[in-house]
Amino acid sequence: MPARHDGIILGTGHNALVLQAYLCRAGLRVLSVDRSATPGGGLATVESSRCPGFLHNTHSFFHRGATGMPWYRDLELEARGVRYVEPELNVAMILEDGRAVEWWTDLDRTVASIAAFSRRDAATVRRWAEEFRPIVERILVPEARSAPLEPGRRRALLERSRLGRRLLDVAALSPLELVEREIENDVVRAGLLFFNGLREVDLRQRGFGHSIPALLASPAKAQMAAGGSAALARGLVADIEAHGGEVRCGVQVRSIVVRGERAAGIELADGEVIAAAGFVASGLNPQQTFIELLAPEHLPPWARERAAGFRYNLVAPLFALQLSLSEPPAYAAAGKHPELARAFMVILGLERFAQFDEIVRAHEAGEQPPLVAWGATPTLFDPTQAPPGGHTAFLWQKVPYALRGSATAWDAEREAHGRRLLAMWAGHAPNLSRGAVLEAVTQSPLDTERTLPNMRGGDLLVGSFAGDQVGYHRPFAGAGEYRTPLCGLYLCGGSTHPGGNITGLCGYNAAAVVAADLGVKAWWSPVPVENVLPCE
Ligand SMILES: Cc1cc2nc3c(=O)[nH]c(=O)nc-3n(C[C@H](O)[C@H](O)[C@H](O)COP(=O)(O)OP(=O)(O)OC[C@H]3O[C@@H](n4cnc5c(N)ncnc54)[C@H](O)[C@@H]3O)c2cc1C
Repeated sequence: MPARHDGIILGTGHNALVLQAYLCRAGLRVLSVDRSATPGGGLATVESSRCPGFLHNTHSFFHRGATGMPWYRDLELEARGVRYVEPELNVAMILEDGRAVEWWTDLDRTVASIAAFSRRDAATVRRWAEEFRPIVERILVPEARSAPLEPGRRRALLERSRLGRRLLDVAALSPLELVEREIENDVVRAGLLFFNGLREVDLRQRGFGHSIPALLASPAKAQMAAGGSAALARGLVADIEAHGGEVRCGVQVRSIVVRGERAAGIELADGEVIAAAGFVASGLNPQQTFIELLAPEHLPPWARERAAGFRYNLVAPLFALQLSLSEPPAYAAAGKHPELARAFMVILGLERFAQFDEIVRAHEAGEQPPLVAWGATPTLFDPTQAPPGGHTAFLWQKVPYALRGSATAWDAEREAHGRRLLAMWAGHAPNLSRGAVLEAVTQSPLDTERTLPNMRGGDLLVGSFAGDQVGYHRPFAGAGEYRTPLCGLYLCGGSTHPGGNITGLCGYNAAAVVAADLGVKAWWSPVPVENVLPCE
């Protein structure tokens, strides 16, 4: 039977949709399939079943620098109704005594906030931000937006320039080492590490010392999609359909079909076979793609072994508490600092640097960590996410996936843990214990994995950033660069470079690789990092 599709993509996470949108615009007929009833994966916005009109973002919410991404511009997503909001008081860490460390979109205001804790640290933060701005612009951003370089080649290219050498020097440290070495104030140390740890996860890991200065220097701030995170998925799907693509949800995939040593389509659980003339791409994790969906004879044993051994983050899984409210959380600290009433991301329960160690140890032991959490009140910035006068708010906490050795322990523990988290929250925002809460819904790491099984172990970054799972070797050596050991099979999800989170860059980079392999002219302008790294 002739193939109706040039390509098939497994999963409709945002990376898969970005890949599909680029290839559809290039004239290819591409189908994406997903087990879930709605497309978007981590771009999920769900209406409460008990409180109609209250929308909850059950997975991603903070989309860092979304509007600056190349796909956001290329795919003209604003013409498809996508709109982002970037609140000025971007992140606030509220302390028990009512003080706060504030990260503003404006560096001067951030530095002024840190100066209230330590003038020396404020000066260090300014120096980092200024020194790392060109490193971010000329090295880190182009690297994230391109297929990764082989590590030896990367080092040689970076060593050519002053900026590259500085990056290599700082990266040789762990974020923890850099902060211990350069920041003196205990609260500022804790804040910088947490702010960074939300994304990079293992703060003890060498190779990531640059990530805090880079985050401070980056113009990409936390943003939210108006209408909820699913609005981005709707925009991407609209663009795909406008260019002849097809998105099928509620589909169970049984296997990837191989013909003549080439990925040639997929078979569904009901026996339907869908052929792909050019390629199959997977937005799923390596275990799903190479072990569950591919018969062993189609992959060399070394590749199966590496796929099976792909590792997930210990300190990434989240416990979520989502509230439908009759009024927004009113933080007591806003009495002295009125700006906190309009803070976007709020960090609570973090008071001291030493809490990091306690959090990591609790994860290693499978115990409840200290109640340190962060979240937002989306309706302060987008009233459409609740009925008139109503509000939604959420808090996330990093918790171990296997609680006391078993992930299913969360099913019994979830409600009680939600109550503990709410009590801690109400300690900062007393109106939450005075009738403002209409509904509280909890979600454990196991619930996350049940909804999105590619996030194995509840790891929302879809794979750890261990040294042998980054860049050219993500997800593993021999399957970097989005190509796999099976001809015609590609990867495009968060388990590839540059990794998880809503960046769309895994899909963006994969699009250039697939188009090149198929001999399709790219209508956009992918820039190979090699061409733009500074020379001196
Ligand atoms: C609670 C929570 C909060 C988060 N908050 C943020 C945040 O604020 N900012 C941020 O940037 N990131 C956040 N993330 C992480 C972010 O959601 C993920 O890193 C991102 O969604 C990964 O994108 P992806 O393209 O790899 O695929 P995903 O979004 O993971 O989507 C994968 C898709 O594949 C489908 N699928 C899985 N298995 C199969 C199968 N066998 N067959 C067919 N389809 C399948 C799934 O249904 C899903 O649609 C959060 C995640 C969670 C869980």
